[in-house]
Amino acid sequence: LDPSPERLSNTERELEKVLRPQAFEDFTGQQKILDNLTVFVQAAKLRGEALDHVLLHGPPGLGKTTLSHIIANEMGVGIKITSGPVLDKPGDLAGLLTNLEEGDVLFIDEIHRLSPLVEEYLYSAMEDFKIDIMLETGPNARSVQITLNPFTLVGATTRSGLLTSPLRARFGINARLEYYDTKLLTTIVLRSASILRTPITEEGAYEIARRSRGTPRIANALLRRTRDFAQIKGNGSIDTAIAQYALNALNVDEHGLDEMDNRILVTIIDKFKGGPVGLKTIATAVGEDEGTIEEVYEPFLIQEGYLMRTSRGRECTALAYKHLGKTDYPKGNTLF
Ligand code: ADP
Repeated sequence: LDPSPERLSNTERELEKVLRPQAFEDFTGQQKILDNLTVFVQAAKLRGEALDHVLLHGPPGLGKTTLSHIIANEMGVGIKITSGPVLDKPGDLAGLLTNLEEGDVLFIDEIHRLSPLVEEYLYSAMEDFKIDIMLETGPNARSVQITLNPFTLVGATTRSGLLTSPLRARFGINARLEYYDTKLLTTIVLRSASILRTPITEEGAYEIARRSRGTPRIANALLRRTRDFAQIKGNGSIDTAIAQYALNALNVDEHGLDEMDNRILVTIIDKFKGGPVGLKTIATAVGEDEGTIEEVYEPFLIQEGYLMRTSRGRECTALAYKHLGKTDYPKGNTLF
């Protein structure tokens, strides 16, 4: 249930496209960001200009890619999509930039992973819509300046802390996406179910929503898997009972924590006396990549109050002990 896009199968990727909202009005939640973007888009259109560059940050699966498509749709322009690790050389970027039509959106996912060389090349493109390209090599090598069509760069990142400040400074619009509450996720599940033509009760949708780690991508994934259970083990429609059955079979617990969430907490408690313990040590102990723990698992565990990040490392809270039925919380009686 890792919501990172690179771990999706091709079928899942196709389904994501189908379920992706196309306009501001189909997009649920993130109201403040939406309200602001609506104003900026209208103003840019009124002036006949490209929208200012937009930086979207937040954990995976919260709607960054979706918003970039919506921005392009609402601006009435095209969109080209790439990602930090894919843009290897300045030449790759130059190819993309020179093919943009006036006002187009260039979406760069994982923008914190651009190589320094490519990043530097991006600066003048963002600022003056100009780039230098090298013609020929050897003694005849010379660089010429090319003027680009004005465009909007939409950058997405799960780790805004890793962005260099010169890059960050070049985005006029900066938005941080938040986890969704259960009510919003219920709306999203109901909408997705109707697109997938799956009958579902409001309570069934709520059950999926509250166990989706605040993340639309996970809500949609759980909905699709619950639909399988409904078709094979039930009568095809989703109610609370079948949702609970499916979620238990998928090892998503009562509070929406999945196997890895629980493994992280159990490891910290059983092997490291509840912490504090360093991220690297946790990663090795649970067999998961350090970055994934930091970007995907930890923010949710912290938000839900199971984990604390201190200067000496990660520490489990009393809630984590209670959740796992452990009675030996080390700070349990410090008050007395
Ligand atoms: P990110 O780029 O932040 O990783 P995506 O934009 O790819 O996330 O969203 C993942 C999935 O979740 C998409 O299939 C999209 O349909 C769905 N989704 C995300 N945000 C919303 C939302 N606010 N309303 C409805 N569906 C959403």
